[in-house]
Amino acid sequence: MAQVSRQLEIEDLIGAIERSGAWKWMVQTYLPPCPICPSCKEQITGPRALATFWEMGRVYCKSCGSTFTPTNGTPIHETSWSPEEYVKLMLLLNADRSHSEIAATLGKSSGAIKDMRERIALRHQTASSCPADTAQG
Ligand SMILES: [Zn+2]
Repeated sequence: MAQVSRQLEIEDLIGAIERSGAWKWMVQTYLPPCPICPSCKEQITGPRALATFWEMGRVYCKSCGSTFTPTNGTPIHETSWSPEEYVKLMLLLNADRSHSEIAATLGKSSGAIKDMRERIALRHQTASSCPADTAQG
């Protein structure tokens, strides 16, 4: 009985995960503290470009003229995974769910879960400070 209620609790939490919060967590976890262009490494500072970054749209870099997808550098880059699906995966892995259980909950194949677990292992190391932090606010 305790097992059943614990399972329901996890399902409830999973339903509460939303894109904006999941994406913020993902940026904090995998990307440099300030959004930067993956091509020229210049910091993205324009308000419109920053808004696009946080909406996960294609960001235009004024410094080098290239565009990039904000997921570049995260485990979900060039996959069909959304940030919220990724956070749900983290939660289910922490709950010791099997690949097949996670696959069923997320509506993905067991192979997709296995692939993403390998991508987690390849996480990038990120810088720990942001020069713009002192300039903001
Ligand atoms: Zn650039």
